[in-house]
Amino acid sequence: MTRGSGHQPHRHDRPTWAAALQQHCSNCGGRLVVGPVPGDDRDRARCPTCGHIAYLNPRLVVGTLPVDEAGRVHLIRRAIEPGYGGWSYPGGFLEIGETAEEGAARETLEETSLRVEPTGLVGFYSRPEAGVVVAIYLARIVGGEPVPGAEALEVRAFTPDEIPWPDIAFRTTEWALRDWLARGPRPVGAETP
Ligand SMILES: [Zn+2]
Repeated sequence: MTRGSGHQPHRHDRPTWAAALQQHCSNCGGRLVVGPVPGDDRDRARCPTCGHIAYLNPRLVVGTLPVDEAGRVHLIRRAIEPGYGGWSYPGGFLEIGETAEEGAARETLEETSLRVEPTGLVGFYSRPEAGVVVAIYLARIVGGEPVPGAEALEVRAFTPDEIPWPDIAFRTTEWALRDWLARGPRPVGAETP
């Protein structure tokens, strides 16, 4: 996920975030141990003291491609790892209590100061090695001026020809941009149902 990283994580490795979350048993506080569990087909974090198994599932990342009336997509240059300095969609982890569209719009507002309305799904992407799935929405800009939030160095609008492919932060960013372009980057609001 991080550019320039030498280690390529395997899809069955536990992602770093999972290991950080699964240190202690939520039942008794004992230290969890990762290993085989009878009757299961993969390693789990298990508490040797009380037998509790800490199941963990992939996280959902939501984001948008905010497209203006001129057909330009707004990307952010990331101010945080992973992907520091690379361009990506505004996005982040969905919070409890939000719909996916609401989370995508919230992340977009936080990172770009643009108020957006998601208008449809661009794509849904699995990254098993990172333990995340990513849902990216096409979005109409309904207010605000682009100003980078705390997690962004820059916000910039790109025509399809200007997209900085060599400096894209993540594979999912590239996939989403290519899927958006493949269906014809029309101005938002001009889509047919
Ligand atoms: Zn326990």
